Amino acid sequence: MELYIFNTKSRKKEKLQPQKPPKVGLYTCGPTVYDYAHIGNMRAYVFSDTLRRVLEYNDFQLHHVMNITDVGHLVSDADEGEDKIVVEARKKKKSPYEIADFYTDIFFRHARKLNIKDPSITCKATDHIQEMIDFVKVLVDRGHAYEISDGIYFDISTFPDYGKLSGIDLEEQQEGARVEVNPEKKHPADFALWKKAPKNHIMQWPSPWGMGYPGWHIECSAMGLKYLDGFFDIHTGGVDHIPIHHENEIAQNWGYTGTEVVKYWMHSEFLQVDGGKMAKSLGNFFTLDDIEARGFDPLAFRYLLLNAHYRKKVNFTWEALEGAQKAIDRLTEHVLKFREAPAKKGCGPRLQKYKEKFLEAINDDLNVPRAIALVWDVLRGEEPASEYYQFLLDVDRVLGFGMKDMERKEEEISAEIRKLIERREEARNKRNWEEADAIRDQLLEKGIRLMDTPEGVRWERIRKKEE
Ligand code: AMP
Ligand code: ZN
Repeated sequence: MELYIFNTKSRKKEKLQPQKPPKVGLYTCGPTVYDYAHIGNMRAYVFSDTLRRVLEYNDFQLHHVMNITDVGHLVSDADEGEDKIVVEARKKKKSPYEIADFYTDIFFRHARKLNIKDPSITCKATDHIQEMIDFVKVLVDRGHAYEISDGIYFDISTFPDYGKLSGIDLEEQQEGARVEVNPEKKHPADFALWKKAPKNHIMQWPSPWGMGYPGWHIECSAMGLKYLDGFFDIHTGGVDHIPIHHENEIAQNWGYTGTEVVKYWMHSEFLQVDGGKMAKSLGNFFTLDDIEARGFDPLAFRYLLLNAHYRKKVNFTWEALEGAQKAIDRLTEHVLKFREAPAKKGCGPRLQKYKEKFLEAINDDLNVPRAIALVWDVLRGEEPASEYYQFLLDVDRVLGFGMKDMERKEEEISAEIRKLIERREEARNKRNWEEADAIRDQLLEKGIRLMDTPEGVRWERIRKKEE
């Protein structure tokens, strides 16, 4: 079966043809570890994980490289302002390394809770300073870079294809350039490869151009080429990387190798909150910890993301997460019911047909929402439980909901709540409706909703809504 993916560069779905099949070299722009990764950031990594799972489902052998940006990402992507990690280090009175280690650990903790597989290689920018210096030296020697008072810059006029990935109009950009653009640069879009460090700068290394530190873009070129052995079959990132970061990577790679080294560029869309940007200043910046604190399973968030195509914006709401949680709970019920059935290998003809349709959906540029709809559809039938179980385990290789280990969550209620429920029952038995209603309201306040059913009273926990 052929696998088609959307290439940002050609703006078309293209058949995947890696350079050395069945191997696929995949590079993912990793997090800048100066703060907690928010749930928007995590969308980019759920996407690269899904891509990887789809490739593995198609029997490709993945070599997945992801960087950790622990130096060089300035407050503005366009080389202005201070290094994000240095700013945070000063604020917290810690070393930049402590800041980076702290947020890197949390990033991986969150990633694993979302069942995101660890990359084959994770590489930190600060461990590859020499590789970056060597790269910049080559660019200078070949006339693609020039030195000015605050650093070494890439000369985009030496690369005729600059801007092709995003389709930006450089002339327009030059006219609209903001006044604070460094006047020594030959073109406003020329970007820093290496910055010279002011004396008291905390992160600096010796280089042919004095003490300094690398720009952000060079790390992905240097580490990617190193660990992917000179060729990236697929390169992923968020859509915000297209116009600057990835244009710059293409320019650097071309200057260094004289050719294109990335075959397919894939970008995931943004997660929005209330239809807009997620930002600390707007008070709508959520992390996976916030999601858990409100009683949701991290995998409900994975479900919410997978239920939208990666090239479509997703609007995050607690109601949508509630819906995703219900879907995960329902799926868990199915899995547990089927798991108990005696094991039997293989799928009957109907399930086999669905497996084919599932593969068709995911191989059509990762149409995971369609694949999930197929799963619900097949579950409406009456197939033998053991076959259903095998089917679900199989599709879960792509979906990554951890079906094999799914457990029913035995919800616990405190002795106090249990006592209140009993007291309400007693009041009802005595037909003391007033007291029964008062206790019901008291329980609601505590986040417990009672339901009177023919089988007796049942309770459910109401997840806390936004305060
Ligand atoms: P950063 O840590 O800022 O380098 O970003 C890590 C990843 O998150 C990048 O791939 C960004 O494109 C992506 N990203 C940032 N904000 C969002 C968002 N709101 N929704 C989806 N992806 C995002
Ligand atoms: Zn990158």
